[in-house]
Amino acid sequence: MKARLTLAAAALACLSATPAFAYRVNTCLGVPVKWATNNPQVRISPVSFPDGYWRNGIQRTLNLTNQNPTPFWFSSTTDTDGLGLGNGQSETWGSTDGGILGGSPAIAYWYDTCYWFFGVVSHRDEADVIFDYNAPFQWTADESKYSLIMYGGSRRQLQGTGIHEFGHALGLLHVNTEYNVMGADFEHIWANGSWAHGYLGEDAADGATYLYGPWSYSWQDLGVAHWKYSYASGEYSRHVRTAVYDAFGTLLPTVTVGTETGYRVNKGQTVQVEFTYENNGRDTQTVDTGWYLSNDDYISTADRWLGTNTGMTLSRGDVLTYRRTVTIPSDLVSGWNYWVGTVVDIGHVVADAVSENNATYIPIRVN
Ligand SMILES: [Zn+2]
Repeated sequence: MKARLTLAAAALACLSATPAFAYRVNTCLGVPVKWATNNPQVRISPVSFPDGYWRNGIQRTLNLTNQNPTPFWFSSTTDTDGLGLGNGQSETWGSTDGGILGGSPAIAYWYDTCYWFFGVVSHRDEADVIFDYNAPFQWTADESKYSLIMYGGSRRQLQGTGIHEFGHALGLLHVNTEYNVMGADFEHIWANGSWAHGYLGEDAADGATYLYGPWSYSWQDLGVAHWKYSYASGEYSRHVRTAVYDAFGTLLPTVTVGTETGYRVNKGQTVQVEFTYENNGRDTQTVDTGWYLSNDDYISTADRWLGTNTGMTLSRGDVLTYRRTVTIPSDLVSGWNYWVGTVVDIGHVVADAVSENNATYIPIRVN
């Protein structure tokens, strides 16, 4: 880590700006460690992830990790010859062994080659991802938000935590300075309507690009989330929901809408609504972004238009948590719930590989 940190400090001194990345990577004698191949194979336990719901869930987890702008992706197969740490095979399974889990809901182990022989020789040889399968069983592979802890449910989503662990397997370390999946993954969720799932996100995509380089294929993905960075808890970033403020930036009074926090607004009030915009893709994009009012928690450009920012530039580097001023319409019904939302790239200018994550919401109640 030392050489990497020195480099970052030098860049800081020259630019006198915040660093353009938060991601951290493993190093060997000062050199970043990565796989020698761009598509290592993960061997999936057929006992822990039986065909159907759970196998689909762990495959979905790998697919979401693979949604990055680099040539790197995890392939997968079914493990047939026994699971273990340090056996030369990259495997994923569920375990009740406290010695392996170390008190974590899930854990990644990695094995690297690292030595000097007229230059640094390093590569990753194996990475294993193990989930805590003790009772009470804490996992879901649902993408219904109501199953998830942060949306009133009782389960931890395999996808969100799994992406964090496969992020380690890819070569990333924890981050505590930015909204990112290598922090508190259960608070790094994209949601619109009743659908919610974990995702790799801008900072981890940036880290993957640092390690494996940009893909020759033009892989683009803009997204927006109603979560943002809150504070550092040890090595982990903690995240909280984005919010609605009055015209002066003071947080509005809250009210519970369903299982989520909403904000009390007046008819005709000028408010600031906050969302986190991300560029998870290869290239910088300049797009039009819209703000909307909806009768439900599903936001689209078919909802009532409140405003547009033309020419919003999103680069892969630092996530953009941004507040825009909008006016709550004066013809809304007192006591009713509504949802303010945003849609990134309303003109569909970008050939977006993952367009489902381009909209999200915050609940409000009209006084
Ligand atoms: Zn971790």
